[in-house]
Amino acid sequence: MSTPPLASGPHGPDALRPLLDTVLGALTTGAAARGGPLPAGGPDAVAARVTDVLGDVLPEHGDPDALRDLTHALAAGAADPADPLCAAHLHCPPLAVATAADLAVSALNPSLDSWDQAPAASALEARVTAALAARIGLADAVVTTGGTEANQLALLLAREAHGANLRLVCSAAAHHSLPRAAWLLGLPDPVVLPAPNGTLDPAALDAALTELTGPLLVAATAGTTDAGLIDPLPEIAARCAAHRVRLHIDAAYGGALALSDRHRALLTGLDAADTVALDLHKLGWQPVATGFLAVADAAGLDALHQRADYLNAGDDTEAGLPDLLGRSTRTTRRPDVLKAAVTLRTLGRTGLADLIDQVLTLARDFADRVEAHPGLELYDRPTLATVLFRPAHASDDAVAAVRRTLLHEGRAVLGRARADGRLWLKATLLNPHTGPDDLAHLLKLAEGHTPA
Ligand SMILES: *Cc1c(COP(=O)(O)O)cnc(C)c1O
Repeated sequence: MSTPPLASGPHGPDALRPLLDTVLGALTTGAAARGGPLPAGGPDAVAARVTDVLGDVLPEHGDPDALRDLTHALAAGAADPADPLCAAHLHCPPLAVATAADLAVSALNPSLDSWDQAPAASALEARVTAALAARIGLADAVVTTGGTEANQLALLLAREAHGANLRLVCSAAAHHSLPRAAWLLGLPDPVVLPAPNGTLDPAALDAALTELTGPLLVAATAGTTDAGLIDPLPEIAARCAAHRVRLHIDAAYGGALALSDRHRALLTGLDAADTVALDLHKLGWQPVATGFLAVADAAGLDALHQRADYLNAGDDTEAGLPDLLGRSTRTTRRPDVLKAAVTLRTLGRTGLADLIDQVLTLARDFADRVEAHPGLELYDRPTLATVLFRPAHASDDAVAAVRRTLLHEGRAVLGRARADGRLWLKATLLNPHTGPDDLAHLLKLAEGHTPA
């Protein structure tokens, strides 16, 4: 066999073009073979089909059809967020333009651990992170793999500023990655305040901040994962200021509302945070991964400084080569900002805001339909794109069974969430192409499986 072609270099695009045709063809045939939002048959059937296509993972001799066959299998067995009936998680359908930009990243393969591996990509990242931070009223931002890494970094920066006995204070509705980050960083056990209405109660927070001693970090949420609720940010920020306590806001879900004229007021108080987590692979329609941690004090990022002679020797830095190693705790790192920058420029702020406004309107429409339906119960009017609902008078087991039956049959992907002590079905409507008929279909599926 001749030496396989490369993706970049003068012949890269010509080598890629027919392979892309193969990929696009297999995406088409795979989706057709699936014929719905996810593959039918459940985990064992899907795993068997994958094993069937894959054969030997490391065959003695190569198979020229592997790209076609495995891509087909992946598409045939995908949960496709572009299908309107795939509406469980903060799992968005990526924009075609963003995915195309990501292909360029894979072809060029810049790595953001040193300038000599990513000259333009590092300049682009600096501009994009500064602009996004400015948009939410903060000073700077670093790129992360998502909200989990952003939350970890927020706790790390707080620990470096306030010491290793820093204690996290958050609500029971905070994302699980926050207490996990406290565990990972060896911090004391977090103080988890009850969230009876799904949000952090400022009075309970005030009482806790009055009582607790030692350095604290309050983490509020702008867009809870289960119900899409936004904590009362101005009141929380005021309590933190009064007690001189550091504030992190996990806006992984809701932060993109900063782009929408119609909805940005929901984020009032966000700019009072010391750090903010923001994901564009949720309400931003980016392929995974596209996350950010924004900081109010750019100098606070100095805590991430790291010296490795092969990447940022002192004399190289003095001579003007940008020092990138302190922009992340990772080393080799993809320029995930390219797809975000391409999206922001292609759609403009108003184009993205229109998408955000559309999916929030979809959620309201869906909630109206649930409310009007005698066999269904609505948890609450949606704040973001998440709607919790359940068959009326059903047991928790019956609600769980509705979801699993739809998954097993490959008919719909709905999520689940516990609220008010009961189990709810969760629809997260992130697909701006979803129409009224799709919403009606989703309701019919949820209701059709209700045990009599
Ligand atoms: C999704 C989410 C996270 C985790 O983000 P990943 O991108 O999945 O790592 C954190 N916080 C909230 C509120 C989220 O919705």
